[in-house]
Amino acid sequence: MKKWLNYLPTLFIIIILASLLLFSTQGSVRRLNYTDFQKVAQQADFKESSLSISTTIIKAEGTYELNGKKQSYSVIIPNTEENMVWLTDVLEEDGGSISITDPSTGNLWMTILGQIVPLLLIGFLFYFLLSKMSGGGSANKAFEFSKSKARMESDVKVRFKDVAGCEEEKDEVKEIIDYLKTPQKFTQMGAHIPKGLLMVGPPGTGKTLLAKAVAGEANVPFFSISGSDFVEMFVGTGASRVRDMFKTAQKNAPCILFIDEIDAVGRQRGAGMGGGNDEREQTLNQLLVEMDGMGDNTGIVVIAATNRPDVLDPALRRSGRFDRNITVSLPDVKGREEILKVHARNKPLAPTISLENLAKRTPGFSGADLANVLNEGAILAVRNKQSKITQEDLDEAIDRVMMGPAKKSKKYSEKDKWLVSYHEAGHAVIGLMLDDAKIVQKVTIIPRGDAGGYNLMTPKEDRYFHRKSELLAEITGLLGGRTAEEIVFGEISAGAINDIEQLTSIAKNMVRVYGMSSLGPIQYADPSGNVFLGRDYNKGSDYSAGVATEIDKEVRSIVDSCHDQCKQILTEQRALLDLIASQLYEHETLTNEEITNLKNFGQLTDPNISEEQLNDQNEMPPLPMPNQDVPAPTVDNEPPVQNPTVDHETMDEALNELTKK
Ligand code: ADP
Ligand code: MG
Ligand code: ZN
Repeated sequence: MKKWLNYLPTLFIIIILASLLLFSTQGSVRRLNYTDFQKVAQQADFKESSLSISTTIIKAEGTYELNGKKQSYSVIIPNTEENMVWLTDVLEEDGGSISITDPSTGNLWMTILGQIVPLLLIGFLFYFLLSKMSGGGSANKAFEFSKSKARMESDVKVRFKDVAGCEEEKDEVKEIIDYLKTPQKFTQMGAHIPKGLLMVGPPGTGKTLLAKAVAGEANVPFFSISGSDFVEMFVGTGASRVRDMFKTAQKNAPCILFIDEIDAVGRQRGAGMGGGNDEREQTLNQLLVEMDGMGDNTGIVVIAATNRPDVLDPALRRSGRFDRNITVSLPDVKGREEILKVHARNKPLAPTISLENLAKRTPGFSGADLANVLNEGAILAVRNKQSKITQEDLDEAIDRVMMGPAKKSKKYSEKDKWLVSYHEAGHAVIGLMLDDAKIVQKVTIIPRGDAGGYNLMTPKEDRYFHRKSELLAEITGLLGGRTAEEIVFGEISAGAINDIEQLTSIAKNMVRVYGMSSLGPIQYADPSGNVFLGRDYNKGSDYSAGVATEIDKEVRSIVDSCHDQCKQILTEQRALLDLIASQLYEHETLTNEEITNLKNFGQLTDPNISEEQLNDQNEMPPLPMPNQDVPAPTVDNEPPVQNPTVDHETMDEALNELTKK
């Protein structure tokens, strides 16, 4: 409907140009110069003329008759005493009349047009350009710098049933929903509901989803804005946007105001590079002011989300602001199964697929990853023209989500293929022989992403705490690949970069963070926090150089003893190592079950299970997983949940190493 508005500026410009043209040609006035005028003056009879006199010029306009023809004229001559006398003489000859007009009122129309039109034109041009710049659409946007960019969803469809797992988190927010629905209940009791809720958790765990579900369940509008939306080229915009956002929210109360990625504005003030009073801090200050100014029980609940709670300004979390924290963590086995169920709702799955198994094989996956697995699986099924999604599709999908598509066309040389086979077999053997090590779920030598081969290792159960023995076993497992190369080829390749990176960081954390060395339970913080991530610039190490040496020694001794253990196991199990490596070389991919069978029976299948039984079984028999008895998380900093181990093998490097031999 408003489309014609878009043409308004163009129309306006056309009208102005047309009228200018009209005025300039009006009545065929003869514009004379001084010399011409002098010639005309000698012959013509002037009728009525008007003079407008300024300090420097005289402008004469009027009509004259020449050879019986009437003609309008206008002339400008310098304002001197002589000229003035001469002009009045000439004009008054033969009954001409003179009227004097005030130059300032002059030809009012012409003056106004002459001065205003260019301005208008420039103004319109600006308006036009700016509206184009701010993304087109309504031309009004050009002047909305200070308007918040919050998007409103008034009819949120997301409900609690769409958020799987997360039972504790849901419980936490139930009260808020209750309040938004019937605020009287709380006000009568004299209670006030928290104004701010901070959701903390790794990306893709469903923070945004949960916030939406709160709005959906309470049936209130959902305003969402990202922290980075406050930041703009122009100083002060952030602060005024915050003001505007709260004003809009107030008009629509009760409502949810969701600030995603709040760390973009909510970083610790005074930290990092540069001066202390930058745009971001003003924005943050305004946010704090608005939250304080918001009375109790106004019906607005501000929910903020971040995955970097460590860089947030402490003032944000003071009581009365974002004082309620909800930690949304990566889902455990049960949660993953629930999430898979939610996302499998509208997908045709082959009857053999067990989502429970799938959940067990995907520790460390976030909700978003799991949704992605099912989606990739569906895409593969479409690509293969199947009517249902099969287990193979989902297996491939998991690998894809973790590592990218397989590079089946990448060819190994014989030597490389053996090298990678032994490397991966080394990891697998350690996984089999050490009780505390991670289980190898799948090992393959098909390159994928930038990895030459890889190993999907999962912990025996989802854990919140890592015991020392487990960490040591993990380091030993990571060393398995490199050590196998050492033992078999008497030489090492650069293919183990990723293993080494991971095990180093585990060993360092054991000494520095978890206090698991002879240096005792003291934290020796890493001084290399990045200033660009909102850390203090001058944060030095808080221990002496002597201790630094001790730390290095401890780290080395941990890795060395793990390496010794690894060497010992692999030498003792050389036969198993050779067997797994040769099977890998032949089949390229082995599953957990096949590896276990290789260990127990020396072949890929279990001789005790007949062919028929095998066919009766699901394609993926349940993996031996101990029962879940996960301790409740405490307020202590928990060790980060480890992602499944992934090897990056740089094949070119490995090739170089080998050919040098
Ligand atoms: P975050 O905001 O924590 O980064 P999102 O809420 O945007 O993550 O989640 C991204 C997507 O992942 C969601 O749209 C949803 O499809 C899926 N997802 C994440 N967590 C869950 C969950 N608990 N239940 C169902 N789906 C989930
Ligand atoms: Mg989000
Ligand atoms: Zn490796």
